[in-house]
This record gives sequence, C-alpha cells and structure tokens, in this order.
Amino acid sequence: MNNPTQTPQGPRRPKVVAVIMTYNCARLLRKAYEQLPMDCIDEVIVTDDGSRDNIEQEAANLGLTLKRHTPNRGYGGNLKAGLTHALERGADYIVEIHGDGQFHPSALRHAMPFIREGREFIIGSRFIHPRRALELKMPLIRFLANRGLSFIDRIVLGLPFTEFHTGFRIYSREFLNAVPWRDNSNDYLFSFQIIAQAAYARARVAEVPVEADYRGDHTSHSIKGASIYAFQTFRVLADYILARLGISFTPVFPARDRMAARAVTECQGCGNRSLKAMFDLGVVPSVNTYFTKEELHREYPYLLDVHWCTHCTLVQLGTIVPPGELFSHYQHLSSASQSNIRHLEELAATLKQKLSIGASTRVMDVGSNDGTLLSKFLDRTPHVLGVDPAENLVTYAKERGVEQIAAFLNPETAKTIVASHGRRDLIMALNVVAHTPDVRNLLRAVNTVLAEKGTFVMEAVHVFATILKGEFDTVYHEHVYCFSLTALVPLLAQAGLTVVDVEEIPTQGGSLRVYARHTSEQPGIADVVHRLLEREEKEGVRDPETYARVGRQVEAFKRDFRQSLQVLRAKHGRIVALGAPARGVVIMNACGISTDIVDAVVDDTPLKQGRLMPGVHIPVISWKELAANPASGYVLLSWNYEEEMLSKLRGCVREADVVIPFPTLRTVRL
Ligand SMILES: [Zn+2]
Repeated sequence: MNNPTQTPQGPRRPKVVAVIMTYNCARLLRKAYEQLPMDCIDEVIVTDDGSRDNIEQEAANLGLTLKRHTPNRGYGGNLKAGLTHALERGADYIVEIHGDGQFHPSALRHAMPFIREGREFIIGSRFIHPRRALELKMPLIRFLANRGLSFIDRIVLGLPFTEFHTGFRIYSREFLNAVPWRDNSNDYLFSFQIIAQAAYARARVAEVPVEADYRGDHTSHSIKGASIYAFQTFRVLADYILARLGISFTPVFPARDRMAARAVTECQGCGNRSLKAMFDLGVVPSVNTYFTKEELHREYPYLLDVHWCTHCTLVQLGTIVPPGELFSHYQHLSSASQSNIRHLEELAATLKQKLSIGASTRVMDVGSNDGTLLSKFLDRTPHVLGVDPAENLVTYAKERGVEQIAAFLNPETAKTIVASHGRRDLIMALNVVAHTPDVRNLLRAVNTVLAEKGTFVMEAVHVFATILKGEFDTVYHEHVYCFSLTALVPLLAQAGLTVVDVEEIPTQGGSLRVYARHTSEQPGIADVVHRLLEREEKEGVRDPETYARVGRQVEAFKRDFRQSLQVLRAKHGRIVALGAPARGVVIMNACGISTDIVDAVVDDTPLKQGRLMPGVHIPVISWKELAANPASGYVLLSWNYEEEMLSKLRGCVREADVVIPFPTLRTVRL
C-alpha cells in the first residue's frame, strides 16, 4: 500500500474526518463534540443510527452535518454509513468517535505522529497503562474478561496490541481500500472483524493510549450481550485461521487473489474523491456461473454496490472483482443469438455507409468474440483484426476468415499491435468499455492504435434508459460502468479522443453508439451530440436528487417485490420463475428470494439445467419438466421478453398468476 500523504507535489497534510456515531444519545452530543481536539481534525460528521431522540436539533445547534438512516442498523451498520460518508468527503483518515463520550478523543493527539507516518489502522488501548483503567472505575469483571480475550487475540492475530476491544479507532483510506469492511457484520462484531482484517491484510498498525470513562451516563452492554460477543469473536478467529491456512475463505477473509477485489473510493473515470453511494444490492456471486450442489463451495459472492461521481457523473460499481473471476467461464458466442447477429449486421451496414469503408480500410474490433461482426466487413476490406482475451475464440474467428489476437487491449498490447499490424482506421468496441475496470488505460490504448483521421465507435448501455429508471437489474459485477454521454465526453477526452457523433439505439433496453476521433485533429462535432448533452442536463444528470431518488426506488422495489411473491406463494403454494437471465439472478439476489419462496426456475439453456441459480440456489429445470409438473404461480425474470415468455407459458398451463418485476411491478392473470 502506498503512503497516502505523498502526492506528486510532495507531502501534504492528510485530511482527518471525525465521525461521531450516535444512537439515542443526543443529550451527550455536545459533550462528545466539545472534547474533540479540533486542531487535529478537518471535518466532523455525525452519523445517527435511527435514534428516536432530538439528535437533529442537537446536531443543528452545534452546526454539524448529520447523516441519518432508519430503521436502526446496529453499530457496524452505523459505522459503515459513517465511513462511507467520510470517504465521500475525501477523508484520508477517519476517526471513530462514540457519541456517548466513553472513549476520550484526546487520544487522537497521540495518534498524530502515526498518521503523519502513514500508518493504516490505529487503535486506542486502555491497557497501555492498565492501572489507569481500574482507577477510572472499569468494572473488575470486565477488566479481567477483556484482558483474557485480548491475550488470546494477540497470540492468534499476531498484532502487538494490548487491547482489542475499545471503541477508539482510526482508519486510513488506504486501509479501507484494501480490506472488504463493507462485508462485515452490521452489529458490534464489526469492531473485532476489522482488527482481524488488519492482521489478515498485514496492514501497518499502531496503538495509542485512550482514556475511558465508566462513571458517567453511557450506554452499556449487558452480561448476556457481552458473552454472545465473546463467542462471536472466537468464530471470527476460527475463520481467520482457516483463511490464513488457505483451508476455507469467507467474504470477510477472502482468498489472497480475491483481496484484489477492490473497494473503490476514487472515481475510476476522473480520479476525484467524489463518489457518492446510490444503492447496494448486497453480496452477489458471478451471475453467469451455475454450479451443481456438489460444486457450490466454489461459488463466491462479492458486494454489488453502485456509486456515482459528483464531479464527472460516471455511474460505477464500488467493488471491482478481479476479471479472472468473471470471465474464465465465458461461454457466450456472438453468433448464438439471431437478434444479436441482426444488430451486428445493422451496425456493419451503417458504418460502411457512414465511414465509406473501402478495400484499404483497416478495421479492428475490441472484444471481437467469435469474429461475427468483423466477418460482415470482409466484402469491403480484407484488413480486419480481432482482439479478444478468450483463447478458444481465435479458432471460431478463423473459421469466419477473421484474424484474431488473444489479448486484453491495454497500452502494452496496443504498441505490439501497431508494430505487427499497423494502426487502424476504424476501431469498434461493443459493450467492452463499460466492462473494463481500467477504463482509462483501455481508451489510451485505443488512441495509440487509432490511425490518423480514424474513427472509434463504441456501444454501451445508456444510464438514462436503465439504472436511472430504477431498472437496477443490469447491475452486475461484469458491468463496471453505466454511461451517460455527459460522463463519456470527459472520459474519452482524457484519452485524447473527442466525441463527434452519437446515436441512441434500442439494444439492451437502450444504448448509446458513440463515435470519437483524435482530439488533436480538431474534428467537427455533430449537433446531435450537443442536443443529447442538453437533454441529459435537463433530465438531471448533475442533480444529486436524480441518484438519491433511484436509491429510494431500489429499496422500495426490493420490499414490494418480496411482498408480491409472498402473496403469490400464500395463494398458489408452488412458484416457478420464468427464465434465468443475468438480470433475473440480480433481482432474486438483491431481494433475497430463495427456495423458501420460489421452488424452481425454468430456462432453455441446457448448461443451466440441473444446476442452481447463483447465490439463491434455486434449481433450474427445463420447459419439459415444467410441462410435466406445472405450477399456477409464476414470476417472470426474462421480463424484457414478456410476450414471448407468456405465450410460451400459455402452451403449458391453463390458468396462472404471473408477477412481472419491470418496467413496473405488477401481477397479471393468465
Ligand atoms: Zn468522476
């Protein structure tokens, strides 16, 4: 991990944000606030866990920013909200302050030298001077229990702390980037999981003395609660040991390569610390990998959380999964779907006409799959070149007369391609840019390979046609970004490319086809580009409320969808889902619909039949099996093929109720 205090301009003072966590302790807020050593703090945030007191008034009296959520989530849930908000505010270091004032925040003064050194995780201890804890009236039983537990923790975790159970913590941005803290518990256990994660990630840690006050008016823990907590910490230690030995992994302690699943805290488009959370769909495994019961131990879920950048407006995932996890089972062929072939034919015809493709035009397709798109250019030019990471697709492309290189396009491979094949007059990338985590490097590589006066054409789902309409089911780990033209213009500009033309096309519910050329050539820009930018502006592309509204819509959908299915289940007993597309997997996982509500999923794809839907483990059956044992309650997951699916269902059953999730959630009678 890098030292966050170093910038190209030299060292700068790290930004320290204090997060005061409150839950029904508004009366203590002023005291907690006044104890803060403000000379060490740049900003104070209050995060409230659904209190029923006058916290709003108290925070306002003190002029503090208050972030609230209801209902109450628990300590971990409240801390996650606070950390998320502080990261959004550009914090380098975040100090956790308990609103009941139990741990004296003056400990931050002792921590400042460590912060300047770039330590990643700093914890307050009451036992650096153990007698002091007793002087401050820590109950003896708690003193002994705590010392005993801490002794075990120290041995197992190998961290040099004298105490593991205080509530004074300082987290660096780097540390929060490196460990999957969003997957931790929403209750008090979070406080211990995060320490074990620090050990697991071999973070650079430090300990400082903290004074705790047991005499005052604090929220305290019951003996029962404390015993449950102690038991849970042993569970965490066991999980930690198993992961360290490589025996089994959990989201809290993932395998080393999975630790590379980064929790993103900077905008991946513009690099600014200006990400804001929109919504999260919980942890979801790869939506394209269907396991049998016996193989289920190989399934691995990652958090699916969506953010937007307040600077460049790019909508993006907050957790990036290593591409090897997702694309190693890539089995989809361009030529497998008739509607896709028609789409590629239309694109080729449009480009041939628009860009006057001739015998000397050199064409390249990034993510060329089985060469179908390039083969449609062969009647004009022999100079076609495919680039696709999947080795097995090279042969398919060759059968179509298309030369293909098995590689990811990046700045290094771009140079190799220029040396071996020359620069290209037309570069196409269909649904590739939105799937590439390192999008800036991909576009730089496009610039390198693009010939003088060449054109780059990309297609991607339009955020206004999908996510911003509340249709969150196009969100999965492969789809790292969802673009507006407003976000694409600066992204391409960074790579030296200027958007010159745009078309709105119906693909995947609504996509953009964007044309770009070298900025250095000062190309003319079509009016339609300005018109779409203006329209997006009017529709609220820069308005925080646009994104907040989607967050609320998603939450409401999750609740209503579950409820509709529960009603359906009460009426019909057995429920079958129609279709197992990726978007269906997302809906079911996000809403937590498992076999207790839906009994089976019917799908045409032989590869999925006899296996389990990712995450929710609902068995996939064939239409033949359904016809043999029909149900009367259904939920349509392939909702974008509503007519086709319902008419197919009519061939199977006489009467049925079908829940349809989108475009608006409703139940229809067949
Ligand atoms: Zn940005």
